[in-house]
Amino acid sequence: MATIFTKIINGEIPCYKVAEDEKNFAFLDINPLAKGHVLVVPKTEEDYIFNLSEEDYLSLQAFARKVAKALKAAVPCQRVGVAVLGMEVPHAHIHLVPLQSEADLDFRKTKLSLSPDEMQQIANSIAEKL
Ligand code: 5GP
Repeated sequence: MATIFTKIINGEIPCYKVAEDEKNFAFLDINPLAKGHVLVVPKTEEDYIFNLSEEDYLSLQAFARKVAKALKAAVPCQRVGVAVLGMEVPHAHIHLVPLQSEADLDFRKTKLSLSPDEMQQIANSIAEKL
């Protein structure tokens, strides 16, 4: 059965899309830790990121770097933090989170609830910087 992220990539489940290339896809996390929290996902269905082929892993990291640079340009922050958890969704993904302080990368904290308009605006502003 397809993962929820594959369904998002295939357009079967809606998302706030940021970017896509041949092998990878980026969209906003639906429960963001901070404004501009992005998930970067390989199109290949693999649960554990370090089990991706070397080619797919390097492609994912290079794509994440491009998205992170656009994210930094679009959303005011000190740095873009990077995290890999995979505790919830069994499809490899990289979290990119705009940081003002290290506390912003605490996955235990209450997530933001942003309006659809605001989510769309954030996704568009990141996409424009790519
Ligand atoms: P992890 O697997 O890294 O522990 O967490 C999965 C992340 O995916 C969570 O931050 C969660 O908010 C996000 N997520 C789960 N389901 C969806 C979804 O259907 N759409 C989007 N945009 N994000 C999701």
